[in-house]
Amino acid sequence: MFVVWKSKKVVAVLAILIVAELALTVFLVARSFPVKKTTLIDFTVVIDAGHGGIDGGVVGADGVKESTLNLAYSKCLGEIFQRAGFNVVYTRKNENGLYGLPTKGFKSRDMRERKRIIDEADPNLMISVHMNKFSASYRSGPQVFYQTGKEDGKALAENLQRVFNDYTGKAREAIAGDYYVCRETSCPSVIVECGFLSNPDECAALQTEDYREKICNIIFSGVMLYLYGG
Ligand SMILES: [Zn+2]
Repeated sequence: MFVVWKSKKVVAVLAILIVAELALTVFLVARSFPVKKTTLIDFTVVIDAGHGGIDGGVVGADGVKESTLNLAYSKCLGEIFQRAGFNVVYTRKNENGLYGLPTKGFKSRDMRERKRIIDEADPNLMISVHMNKFSASYRSGPQVFYQTGKEDGKALAENLQRVFNDYTGKAREAIAGDYYVCRETSCPSVIVECGFLSNPDECAALQTEDYREKICNIIFSGVMLYLYGG
């Protein structure tokens, strides 16, 4: 009887030790794989859909407004970044402009509001999405712009233009200039002109979901190249 009791006690003590060890193991594993923010989740991208409201931007060969396409591309791009674990902040989330009332000075109010949203988001980088236009209809393909003198924006723009060139087979260079949203923001900032609405074929392609996803995925891969490439 005593022997049996003793062995039961041993079993009980062993069971407690095993449970304790398991608990310790779970604790240590949990500590080595903490459920906390990763570096990517701390990374914020602002996506700025150009124009909006009474400012439709350029008009396509078939009458489509740049502002409508900019919004569709911005949402598509934002979803790609979000799926990859980035924080995404949009300046414009619908067809409306950011100027308040459509009165005199609306454009500068619109731009200042974009700057305010970008400053508040304090992002790691900013991409302003636009569509291009040229006097001759043959010109096509994406073109990236950055603020003259801003080296981080230049590096981001060059990486984006590189992946676009890989796709189109063109040998374009990122172009420097003076652009309010790039000049007035402290993070690496670029303007991406996704294609030419003045080119009827490209204008039609830009309005398809397939092409939109393609262009947005290329932008995303260009950002990855900028962040992690050699
Ligand atoms: Zn534009």
